Amino acid sequence: MVPPTRTRLSVLRVNVAGLLRSTPGALRTYPVAGERLDLGAGLRQAAPLAGTVRLARTNRGILVEAHLTTALAEMCSRCLGATAVPIAVDILEEALPSVDLETGGPLDLEAEPDVLRLDDHHELDLEVPVREAVSLAEPLAPVCRAACAGLCPECGRDLNDEPHAHPELEGDPRLAPLARLLADEKE
Ligand SMILES: [Zn+2]
Ligand SMILES: [Zn+2]
Repeated sequence: MVPPTRTRLSVLRVNVAGLLRSTPGALRTYPVAGERLDLGAGLRQAAPLAGTVRLARTNRGILVEAHLTTALAEMCSRCLGATAVPIAVDILEEALPSVDLETGGPLDLEAEPDVLRLDDHHELDLEVPVREAVSLAEPLAPVCRAACAGLCPECGRDLNDEPHAHPELEGDPRLAPLARLLADEKE
């Protein structure tokens, strides 16, 4: 007995031939759990992809509505610590067939070159749009938490672990008036 080969089914790749035969308005909802994306160099998922993909038959094709969450492995821009930044992406895009549904003949794809297309077998591949949406959602200055105190600009120690201040402001002549004020206040 040869054990059956297990092909990993990805919900980011769905054959919608059946849905295309349905009347406009027909809906399919797919839960997404545990998906891993190949985000390329420099970007790493810190949590699997989760959420739902809803597909609706339209007059021309399939309306894709996806709400997905994951997390990206990032470095906190304040304390430089490793952190997982939660990411949420929403996708709303119409996917059009690449072959005529009646005749099976090719369609003029050049007429709408930027549109999401099903393949010749009516397979919808959401990997690319999801990957792009996740990449775009990457924050420019990720923080490990909103209240991260960051590193001390004077000595570089982590102010979250060791909250401290450096009162010796006298060293800088520009800060001398401030130092005097602080000294007055201490009296
Ligand atoms: Zn931080
Ligand atoms: Zn310091």
